[in-house]
Amino acid sequence: MARIAVASGKGGTGKTTIAVNLAYFNRIDLFDLDVEEPNCHIFIRGKGKEEVVYRKVPSVDKSKCDYCGICRDVCEYHAIVVLKDAIYVMHELCHSCGACSYFCPKGAIEEVDRPIGRVVEVQSEIKLTYGVLNVGEATPIPVIKHVKRRIGRDAIIDCPPGVSCPMVESVRDCDYCILVCEPTPFSYHDLKLAMDALDKLGIPYGVLINKNGLPFNIEEKIDAEIVGRIPFDRKIAESYSKGELLHNYAETFREIYEVIKCR
Ligand code: SF4
Ligand code: SF4
Repeated sequence: MARIAVASGKGGTGKTTIAVNLAYFNRIDLFDLDVEEPNCHIFIRGKGKEEVVYRKVPSVDKSKCDYCGICRDVCEYHAIVVLKDAIYVMHELCHSCGACSYFCPKGAIEEVDRPIGRVVEVQSEIKLTYGVLNVGEATPIPVIKHVKRRIGRDAIIDCPPGVSCPMVESVRDCDYCILVCEPTPFSYHDLKLAMDALDKLGIPYGVLINKNGLPFNIEEKIDAEIVGRIPFDRKIAESYSKGELLHNYAETFREIYEVIKCR
């Protein structure tokens, strides 16, 4: 039993392909935490149950406000503008810390729910749960946290690309992380950043080389366990573009899972 994250320093390495096929061919629940651009549902299709995700933002009762500016001054995220006789809250910048309502001397601020996205659960041959962040929202973290609450002890987790906060929040609490890379200098550069991040977080990881066979020899440069290799195969790209699973590689994905579940 393990929570296995699938991440990549760089986008476009085939991370989602690996996560989806690993989950499907081993019959494990799949979670898509790439909430700004979820696409596991293109491969795992079915009727979904939805839940709206809210977060708290301030609402100002202007009849009580005297425009003292304290709320603006305590807001670390510059989400409040106070003028001589007007006040504006920019909800997209608010991080829901609650400081403004706590410090308002007039009790003029109430915290209200604002919808910022949704969590969708699809039951197909495997269960897929994914988050969707509403367009224009500044941070995906609250939606990622909502999806994470549903993760059990055995899961494959498709993480956001990169090594910034969304990726760190997604891999936190995982037992193991597969870093997907491709044999190119760009991918190698970003892979090193992802390895550094996981070293600092203390999360064990291995590297899966996708598009194996391209001329750049990434394998001799990596100081980490290689948990699998998926060949550079035009048919994989064709299947991906049609939203199809990689049935020809089912055994490869079962073998990869056998390797990592013992880690
Ligand atoms: S702290 Fe309260 S009273 Fe002062 S400007 Fe903000 S909302 Fe108005
Ligand atoms: S809740 Fe926090 S982040 Fe949001 S406006 Fe108030 S002080 Fe700023």
